[in-house]
Amino acid sequence: MKLYSTKNKTQFVDLDRAVLKGLPDDNGLFMPEYIRPLPTEFIQNLKDYSFQEISYKVCQHLFNGFIPDNDLKDIVYDAINFPAPLVKLDNQKYILELFHGPSLAFKDFGARFMARLMSYFDKKNDEELVILVATSGDTGGAVAAGFYQTPGIRVVILYPSGKVSHLQEQQLTTLGHNITALEVDGTFDDCQAMVKEAFLDKDLTSNIRLTSANSINIARLIPQSFYYFEAYKQLENPSNVIFCIPSGNFGNLTAGLFASKMGLPIKQFIAATNDNNVVPSYLSSGEYVPRPSTRTISNAMDVGNPSNFARMQDLFGFTWNNMKQEISGFSYTDKETESGMKEVLDHYNYVIDPHGAVGYRALKEYQETNPDTQGVILETAHPSKFLPDVERVLGNAPVVPERLAEIADKKKESVFTENDYSVFKRYLLDNYVG
Ligand SMILES: *Cc1c(COP(=O)(O)O)cnc(C)c1O
Repeated sequence: MKLYSTKNKTQFVDLDRAVLKGLPDDNGLFMPEYIRPLPTEFIQNLKDYSFQEISYKVCQHLFNGFIPDNDLKDIVYDAINFPAPLVKLDNQKYILELFHGPSLAFKDFGARFMARLMSYFDKKNDEELVILVATSGDTGGAVAAGFYQTPGIRVVILYPSGKVSHLQEQQLTTLGHNITALEVDGTFDDCQAMVKEAFLDKDLTSNIRLTSANSINIARLIPQSFYYFEAYKQLENPSNVIFCIPSGNFGNLTAGLFASKMGLPIKQFIAATNDNNVVPSYLSSGEYVPRPSTRTISNAMDVGNPSNFARMQDLFGFTWNNMKQEISGFSYTDKETESGMKEVLDHYNYVIDPHGAVGYRALKEYQETNPDTQGVILETAHPSKFLPDVERVLGNAPVVPERLAEIADKKKESVFTENDYSVFKRYLLDNYVG
């Protein structure tokens, strides 16, 4: 499998380089050279396969022999080891629950798969790989859980002290082993600045093999296409199937476009956003105007310049008309999101989180003029991840799943770090030079 950069379609790199590097040198994004349709018998007979088998077949098709079958099977089966159940609200509306992984959000699929793929591609190298990540809370948990106990890889997570929720902090600080949490006396931006400086620091890069677990790594996107097939499989009588995707950086939606290119019969995509609505605005006006993000209750979607927009444009030949034919955009305020949460509880007795509720509103609006469709909303996180807002809006608290409740009382272990690059650098040199 070869990949090109969205900024240069004439130069290709192999999959292993793309995964270990993350970003092309020209600051574009890596894209698969080919995304070809799967055999129609496979799509027609999805019901005969387990989620792991589907994931393996889709991945094998995309990778096109780059990794030997047995090795690929191990990687996929190990990464995709939790389900993605479809819940029926009514004959038109379904919810795809993507929160059954360790950190209770869909990012577990990408993080677990990327960890195993990086470890596999790096195993010929004796020297360990050190992954640096700055987190404002959400990505860190998935990355920590994803790379936990991965051979040959150590992870250093920087987070702003006192500025992440209790459960988020517990997800970062209680694993131990190859995961180290640096609690920085500063903001998320300070954490990010230190990570950026480290990658440019020759004293560090000549002594430690540093890489990032960036969210735009192609290895995080690929497994997100698997669950579109899994959702389709679970529909009793699939016809006129549409997918509604609560979006921030648009990785999930881009992965859906991959699934569609691989032959999954998807009639329409719905891009659902909160007030950070640059993509819905683009779809209606043809003008892409990025801007600083604003804070909302669906905060994992507070993105003002979505990084995967370049990939979406690439897939539609940089043509507005093509994109708006396949993707419909809708955006909602926090008030509308909250009324969506209440409505889903009142009508369907289902507790949906704020991100999923944005999707619910969008699907409902779309189906007012397109009633003859079956819509699947991607529920991107478990409602208990956003406990204070869910409790405030719905009046009572969702049940916290055992795997999250379990870590609530575990002993926190973090390394308190001054907001000073030289202190951070000293720490890395003292602890990570082989
Ligand atoms: C990351 C995230 C999103 C946004 O997903 P994108 O792929 O960036 O569009 C939505 N919901 C939750 C809960 C998330 O964590």
